[in-house]
Amino acid sequence: MNVLEVKNLQKSFGTIMAVKDISFSVQAGEVFTIIGPNGAGKTTTLEMIEGLVTPDHGEIQFGDMNWGQHAVAIKMKIGVQPQSSAMFDLLTPEENLDLFATFYEKARPTEEILKLINLTEHRKNQVKKLSGGQRQRLAIGLAIISDPDIIFLDEPTTGLDPQARRHIWDIILELKKLGKTTILTTHYMEEAEKLSDRVCIVDQGNIVTIDTPSALIEKLTKEREIRLAFLDGEKAAKEADTFANQLPSVSRTEQDGATLKLWATKPEDTLLDLFKFTKEKEYQVEQVSIREMSLEDVFIAFTGKEWRD
Ligand code: ATP
Repeated sequence: MNVLEVKNLQKSFGTIMAVKDISFSVQAGEVFTIIGPNGAGKTTTLEMIEGLVTPDHGEIQFGDMNWGQHAVAIKMKIGVQPQSSAMFDLLTPEENLDLFATFYEKARPTEEILKLINLTEHRKNQVKKLSGGQRQRLAIGLAIISDPDIIFLDEPTTGLDPQARRHIWDIILELKKLGKTTILTTHYMEEAEKLSDRVCIVDQGNIVTIDTPSALIEKLTKEREIRLAFLDGEKAAKEADTFANQLPSVSRTEQDGATLKLWATKPEDTLLDLFKFTKEKEYQVEQVSIREMSLEDVFIAFTGKEWRD
């Protein structure tokens, strides 16, 4: 069941077309991630859906509700964590949550939220004394205090260290277990890969592609990179290079000192052939690796650009 559908969204700021033509739908209970480089139009897209920015063109439907006719009902259904969150620095997390709870007709108990965002221990510390990761967790807590069905998180992990990022991932996965729908933006490919049911790659105001992380990667997994390091040095690598170039599944090779890199469509068959060769020649292979494709490879393949976090 679709809980959100956006069609042909467009938004310009003066001469800048921030969002050119964006359409997608989000299903109940999924983590839907919008990923793209700086200035791709992620925040503008999210802010239009959240009712904070009026689109120049396009439709936004939450089931059978839209902003024009059902603004109050939509506000009760969604929770928003913007890029910079408004919270009270002199109050504690507990006080912030209690205060935000009074803004809504229904709210989840503060204790439950503190536990979910792993801040129970810091519930009585002033917000200004919290770390960046703890503040960000509180920002998510404030977004979900009203127990929304659909949660928008705009780059919740930007600027956080790897451990703090993982804590945020845990919250997102926990929300999924609770049956919530999460729409997330991020710069981090690894994050999109780990958390998302589907990923929407945007670049320059347009959608590049939408699919599950594994399907996106599979689309490109025509070739895999295999790396072999030879104990017997450069001579062995050179001979293996000549041999590998004759194999039908190998498209290209690169030999550098005692290491041979090759790209093959059937890595298992290629390795089998290579091991037969090394055994015959009595060469010893010190290290073998097959590189996994990542979403980063997908982005580069679709846009022709390098990915920058
Ligand atoms: P980031 O990852 O840096 O947050 P983003 O993908 O979220 O980027 P947006 O913030 O949506 O991108 O910005 C898209 C484009 O629109 C950028 O060129 C940005 O400078 C421009 N833009 C966004 N908001 C405004 C505004 N209020 N006024 C003028 N230009 C804006």
